[in-house]
Amino acid sequence: MYSTRSGQDIIRLNQKEINMSQARLAGSCLCGSVQYEVSGQVERFYHCHCSRCRKTTGSGHASNLLVKPLTSITWVHGESLLGRYKVPEAERFFNCFCTQCGSPMPRVVPELDGVLIPAGSLDCEPPLNPQARIFWDSRADWSCDAGGLPVFSEYP
Ligand SMILES: [Zn+2]
Ligand SMILES: [Zn+2]
Repeated sequence: MYSTRSGQDIIRLNQKEINMSQARLAGSCLCGSVQYEVSGQVERFYHCHCSRCRKTTGSGHASNLLVKPLTSITWVHGESLLGRYKVPEAERFFNCFCTQCGSPMPRVVPELDGVLIPAGSLDCEPPLNPQARIFWDSRADWSCDAGGLPVFSEYP
């Protein structure tokens, strides 16, 4: 015995799945000079414990959402104040920040066709909870415990 779903129910379910990952988000830096909006597909939300993310954030890990595509971001205010630092020996690691207050800001990553959004810069609730901790092998001993999240030695 099996149950059937009407076509309309299936459409409604698909719609719900789409709505869950499609999001409009807004954020800003500490001084408020840089403001952005993002409207796109939220692909993932990871804590990254790598040493570069520690330096960039001054904390135990970065917490970044990946939103696709890379055109999903709109700089509402202060785009000219954005600074960027590329680590010379890194393949592609760079950070992006407000040159007035130093807050980490979203960075467009062409290789991912997406935008990495520092969760702490959001002025709204993200649509996902953190899904995993990555670069766990690089974790500082004093940093957060796994907290029930899956951990990956580097990338999943
Ligand atoms: Zn600022
Ligand atoms: Zn990292």
